Amino acid sequence: MNSYVKQTIDLIYDKYRTQPEFVQAVEEFLLSIEPVVAKHPEYEKYDLLMRLVMPERLFKFRVVWTDDEGKTHTNTGYRCQFNGAIGPYKGGLRFQKNVNESIIKFLAFEQIFKNALTGMPIGGGKGGSDFDPAGKSDAEIMRFCQSFMSALYRYIGPDIDVPAGDMGVSAREIGYLFGQYRRLKGNFENGVLTGKGLSYGGSLIRPEATGYGAVYYLQEVLKHENDTFVGKRIGVSGYGNVAWGIMKKAAELGAKVTYMSGPDGYIHDPDGIITKEKLDFILQMRRTDPVHCKPYADKFGCEFVEGKKFWGVKDVDIYMPAAVQNDVGFETAKKIAESGVKYYIEVANMPTTNDALTYLRSCDHMIVAPSKAVNAGGVGVSALEMSQNSERLSWTAEEVDKHLHRMMKNIHDESMKVAEEYGLGYDLVSGANIAGFLKVATAMMEQGLF
Ligand code: GLU
Repeated sequence: MNSYVKQTIDLIYDKYRTQPEFVQAVEEFLLSIEPVVAKHPEYEKYDLLMRLVMPERLFKFRVVWTDDEGKTHTNTGYRCQFNGAIGPYKGGLRFQKNVNESIIKFLAFEQIFKNALTGMPIGGGKGGSDFDPAGKSDAEIMRFCQSFMSALYRYIGPDIDVPAGDMGVSAREIGYLFGQYRRLKGNFENGVLTGKGLSYGGSLIRPEATGYGAVYYLQEVLKHENDTFVGKRIGVSGYGNVAWGIMKKAAELGAKVTYMSGPDGYIHDPDGIITKEKLDFILQMRRTDPVHCKPYADKFGCEFVEGKKFWGVKDVDIYMPAAVQNDVGFETAKKIAESGVKYYIEVANMPTTNDALTYLRSCDHMIVAPSKAVNAGGVGVSALEMSQNSERLSWTAEEVDKHLHRMMKNIHDESMKVAEEYGLGYDLVSGANIAGFLKVATAMMEQGLF
């Protein structure tokens, strides 16, 4: 292994011992870009890797809010402005009970290269809170968002840092966050947030963009393999916003999602989640109860397996983990490989542990695509929302979709090309890491030391 890469990994292990998710993301990344670092001795001279793995800044703040009974609660808020070399920091906010500094940093780190891959001028950031939105009333959500934004507003702006949604944060939360930002700043800078409602500058197709983008990317993978969507059965973990977009677009292109899962278990619908009725039902089910997918089985009379995941089933052609980080560990990866499935397309951020990912990539019969490329359509359309806001106009759904489609094809093709240049063959994981890295590294080297 290149000694500078090794030395940086050792340092990370030592320095960030208490941040396992962050160390995991950095190690996977550094191992991928090793052939590039080996070719560029100047990186070591200018300590590029250590500068790359240390955030430019990270805010951690207290968020105090009152529940409907008048009781006060205190949560921790975060915003990590990881790397701004190619544009304003950009990335979502995650509201989830388990959020901590390690999770925010891993997400922000992944975001840097994902954002670079989109080809849009956006740096990498991420934020959130350990606030648990489950079971909260609308008024409680509003008060929490207002308090969160009161702490954050002085650090963000359309040319500084542009947050958006992630788990636990969708258009409703973005609305409350924007309202508070506007109230505090006394101006209408709607480019400060993306994922907004259409009434105040949101972009068409933004809610569907991550799922649609994942399917467009997959389409390029299938093309490369002289394969098509026709009749393909897809297993998607999760049934949130992203999974929903996958179901809808896959159905449009002739494939069908036959497995989906939630925290309560998994659903097997061999006919596929392809009709408008089924897709609409999922939307409504998620709105009323975000932790149970069983109602789908009750409604459409299909199999529900409680408390289990479907990894390892043989009657799918494509696996798409689209739920949470580290969903697929080593034992699960073995089951997936043994099932004989060819395509493993990551969608959620870092859904695979490093040992599992290494194993899947080593299986000759499999093609593995990395989340930071596959799910980049979401933030890509966020960047298009920023463009529309700064132009003070809105594009049609067709225009946005056309840009998204092109973006996903470019990400696939560029990853493929750069991997080939480095003699790695059709290696989409290394290709994405290297392509993203080269854009950010070049900008950092050109901007001098800091
Ligand atoms: N949270 C999403 C992601 O993981 C979207 C971020 C954004 O739109 O800024 O990329």
